[in-house]
Amino acid sequence: MMQTVTSFAEAFSVDYQMARTRFRAAAEAKGFRLEAVAIGGRGPNGEELAIDCARLGAERPDRVVVVSSGLHGVEGFLGSAVQLAFLESATWDEPLPDGGAIVFLHALDPYGFAWVRRFDEDNVDLNRNFLINGSTYRGSPHNYRLLNGLLNPSFAPVWPDSFWPRALLALAWYGRRSVRQAVAHGQYDFPRGLFFGGHGRSRVHQRLLEHMPRWLGSAAEVIHLDFHTGLGEWGTYALLLSSETNPAQTARLREWFGVEHVKGADPSEVAYTTSGDLGPWCHALFPDCRYDYLCAEFGTYSGLQVLSALRAENQAHHWGSPDSAATQSAKERLREAFAPADPTWRESAVKHGIELVEKACAIELGLFSATDDRG
Ligand SMILES: [Zn+2]
Repeated sequence: MMQTVTSFAEAFSVDYQMARTRFRAAAEAKGFRLEAVAIGGRGPNGEELAIDCARLGAERPDRVVVVSSGLHGVEGFLGSAVQLAFLESATWDEPLPDGGAIVFLHALDPYGFAWVRRFDEDNVDLNRNFLINGSTYRGSPHNYRLLNGLLNPSFAPVWPDSFWPRALLALAWYGRRSVRQAVAHGQYDFPRGLFFGGHGRSRVHQRLLEHMPRWLGSAAEVIHLDFHTGLGEWGTYALLLSSETNPAQTARLREWFGVEHVKGADPSEVAYTTSGDLGPWCHALFPDCRYDYLCAEFGTYSGLQVLSALRAENQAHHWGSPDSAATQSAKERLREAFAPADPTWRESAVKHGIELVEKACAIELGLFSATDDRG
């Protein structure tokens, strides 16, 4: 029998395999229809790697709440915990309205989740891979090229490491904002580098292109919460809108989810802008739909601490030996950067995550209306 969640922090699983098993059991118990989309390859325990889709409600829905986790692999520890805790704790008396559906997508990057990476099996940052409008998989910000040596050392990990003094020098020289933008925007020229958007559609991109139109039917309205971690202040969260969100949509989402949490795609409101992220791609895939995409970002450590952990793991992955202590400790650092072990952080992040899912279900499907505090 599966263990159920008694405190929200317990919804965190120790690895992808356990997260997947728990998710599938909880979804099935709640009457969701399950489907697994294998992406090929295996996890460290020899397990299959798959995106799991769990659907409740109409087969061809017109109003949908989508909740996705793990587009950035290791960030799936939180997203999966939110999905599990919601499935195990949320109760609603009324049936879903006609045409309404809930779609949970578990582990959009199963490879990265299983192997504790932010990237897929080809080192692709999936949230930089969903290019649209004829954009090509080429080019990099000018300053990324200048910082490549610092970000992506092409040798096995050494001690002591010179990252911190050099990073602080770069920040002082180029300015914090400019460095952040150059580093995180997405690049298409350094296949072993951080934030590499790929040289073509990734496997996950192809799978979603194939299945999303079926999962969402001809939906006229969608609220999509895509869970991420590692950006923002410790213990806080923000809902980042895609660049395709129009002003009326933005105003509506601010009213629903709180003006203090919802950040527009305007460069003045966000830490950096990106290319190839999932939101605009969803808008383009469902052009006749009112598609409200919200990237739910939960803050952990400082930007430089997160970047340092990403860099160390990436260096160890490409240049270190897989079983070495240095590689194992780089993986552990990465996990801590994106899924802190602190029980207070975990409890609060899952609690807020569930509230977001419940709010989306209240707005779109009229569930939880008794506890809906929209006023
Ligand atoms: Zn992310």
